[in-house]
Parts: sequence; C-alpha cells; structure tokens
Amino acid sequence: MRIVVLGAPGAGKGTQARLLRNKLGIPHVSTGDIFRGNIAEGTELGNKVKDYLHRGELVPDKLTNDLVADRLSRPDCRDGFLLDGFPRTITQARFLDSIMEKNGTPLRHALNIKVSDEKIIKRLSSRRVCTSCGRNSQVNEKSCGENTVCEICGGIVAQRPDDDEKTVAERLRIYHEQTEPLIEYYEMQGKLIEIEGSGEIEEIFESILSGLGVE
Ligand code: AMP
Repeated sequence: MRIVVLGAPGAGKGTQARLLRNKLGIPHVSTGDIFRGNIAEGTELGNKVKDYLHRGELVPDKLTNDLVADRLSRPDCRDGFLLDGFPRTITQARFLDSIMEKNGTPLRHALNIKVSDEKIIKRLSSRRVCTSCGRNSQVNEKSCGENTVCEICGGIVAQRPDDDEKTVAERLRIYHEQTEPLIEYYEMQGKLIEIEGSGEIEEIFESILSGLGVE
C-alpha cells in the first residue's frame, strides 16, 4: 500500500503512522524526522534546513522533493510506504504523482487526520518527544514529564524546539495556507479518507484501519 498521511502539526500523523507501520510492515517515511536527524548529525542537508525548521517554515520544495525521491527509490519502499508530513504543498503533491506515475505504482490512499486548531495548540504546548525513538508523550502524563527518560527505550524526552507557542502559530498558519488545499486535491482524485483525530489513539487507529479496509 502506498499511503500519505495528512493533517495539521500535532494532529497525530507520526503516532498513527508508527502504529500503521507495525501493522502493515511498510516503511514509515517522515520528512520531519529525516530533517531533524540530519540537523542532529550536522550534515550538509541538516545545515541547509535547520533555520527553516526552527522558524516553523517549510523547507523549499526542490530540496524536499529530491530527498523524498531518493528515499522512495530505495528497495524497502518498493512494495509500499507511509509518507508522514509529505506532501505539504500542491507542488510536492504533483511531484509525488509524477514519480508514482513514472514507476507505474500509483498512490492508493490519502488519510487526513482532522483536529481543531484549539486542540492542536493545547496538545503541542504539552507535547514531549523521545529524542531516540520518537515516541510522543504529554507532560501531564505522570511517567512522561520533562527531564524524564523514555519508558520504551530509555532515551531523553524533550520538547521539540518548534513546539513553542510562537512557532506553533506560524506552523498552523502555513498549514492552512499551503497544506490544507491538499485535502481537495486528493478528494478530487478519489483517494481521500477523512479521520476524526481528536479521540483516543487506539480509537483513531481503528477508524484508520477500517477506512483503509484493513482487518
Ligand atoms: P514535522 O515533523 O512533520 O512536523 O516537520 C517539522 C518541520 O520539518 C516542518 O515544520 C518543516 O520545517 C519541515 N518539513 C517537514 N516536512 C516538510 C515538507 N514536506 N515540506 C517542507 N518542509 C517540511
């Protein structure tokens, strides 16, 4: 299955994509994770993109498209993938369609996880992320507060630098302006699956599985 996961920052794309990866056995490709990994390692790509991430702005399409084309050309993506955080612009969506068309492997589904802005702002202000395994948690959960270690892998749990209030507002503004139009784009292609994303993680995952027709 070739699936893209759409949704505002903090809608739960990463969390659901990780659950789906485990269920379907296809790679989870998160452009945000790839950028953050490169920044942490101080690579040339990391140096090019770090200011965009810190400001909550989108990395330019060309750079992002090249990265995704390279990642999707690897053997593990041959039988399917989950794209999380890509595409984020119409230009990126058209680019993805062009690669898929060239390979004769069309994208099957676009999941859109819907959560209100109000809820997003609340969620992101208390979100903490494991710097090793990427597991998300909320500061009000007893075991997953600030300055703690991840209960899954023992990594350090921290706030993402772009989860501060001002940057979140900018990311949401950009989401509405540049990424939200993709909902209509995929609806017109008959690929859109709308998911209500404000409930419990397991409940949302169940509606994703039924939307995809997976047992
Ligand atoms: P995420 O982890 O998906 O919230 O992405 C974190 C940041 O990485 C975004 O705020 C952007 O700066 C950058 N980014 C991730 N994916 C893309 C994309 N498809 N296009 C442009 N920038 C992206």
